[in-house]
Amino acid sequence: MKISMIGAGKVGSTTMYSILEKGIASELVLIDINHELASGEAMDLMHSTPFYRRTKVYSGDFEDLRKSNIVIISAGSAQKKGETRLQLSERNAEIMQSIGKKIKTFSPNALILVLTNPVDVMTSIMQRVTGFEKNRVIGSGTVLDTMRLRSLISSKCSISASNAHVYIIGEHGDSEVAVWSEAKIGGIPINEYNKECTNSNQCSSCLDGLFDKTKNAAYEIINKKGATNFAIASATAHIIETIVKDEKRVLTLSSPYEDIYIGYPSVLGKNGIERSIHLNLSDFENKQFIHSVEIIKKQTQETIESL
Ligand code: NAD
Repeated sequence: MKISMIGAGKVGSTTMYSILEKGIASELVLIDINHELASGEAMDLMHSTPFYRRTKVYSGDFEDLRKSNIVIISAGSAQKKGETRLQLSERNAEIMQSIGKKIKTFSPNALILVLTNPVDVMTSIMQRVTGFEKNRVIGSGTVLDTMRLRSLISSKCSISASNAHVYIIGEHGDSEVAVWSEAKIGGIPINEYNKECTNSNQCSSCLDGLFDKTKNAAYEIINKKGATNFAIASATAHIIETIVKDEKRVLTLSSPYEDIYIGYPSVLGKNGIERSIHLNLSDFENKQFIHSVEIIKKQTQETIESL
């Protein structure tokens, strides 16, 4: 299994480390316009392979994308303090355009996973530039946001995050939507479980507070340390493992929706997205989701026109 990463910055290098730890790749390639950075990160990663599965790790040029099974993209600008993800659109769309042409030339059968922000818009651009089938160009969507919310519920309710079932859908950004109407803890609807919870008196405000914390997490982390890298690396390794092992997990990936991509629960397997899951959203959630779709549609259209 050959996995290539374009972008050897904080997200790209940390993600490759998480993938290495999982022991699911035989070959890992790092590509960056900053060759020195890619080379240094590849050397450092290579020296940790004796502790995991034997893996060939190297840095290279776009020609080294040849025969990749999966190409991950983290190249481009990241948010600066106070900047929204949508503000990165034009800058990163040009990068997606040039990278997409290289992937089409050197690795026309690869599955593409986009991480670069705004991820829903960049996934659309990548699909258009490569012309690959929509199910094998995917974005990380709201997988990270969903896991962030689960981790907060886990610590608030003293329950394993794997038993806290809730989805965040829509834009990976300010208009995302928490689907509380379908949320369950250990199979029990979250509002019923709440009666057992020691915090039940303030529960709905407590849950909304957790969602606000999730939505603002990237701003808070970027203010404190300049970038986010560990949780997105774990989320990406989880997505990649799902593909490699054909696990068919349901993940809130940037999935094809009407003529755009947006975060929605989809079944993921070795060939990419197999299908999306239908959610029975409440009227309020549905209204919020439609609002988020409109924002991404507008941003995608404007970004395409700017190219
Ligand atoms: P970074 O600045 O550390 O790394 C970006 C790298 O891209 C740099 O090393 C740069 O040299 C490289 N690059 C730029 N143009 C390139 C090109 N044309 N070809 C090859 N390499 C190129 O940034 P980062 O913190 O690693 O973030 C990367 C992206 O990931 C950002 O857009 C960020 O917003 C996004 N991100 C997404 C999520 C998510 O949930 N999807 C989470 C965190 C960060």
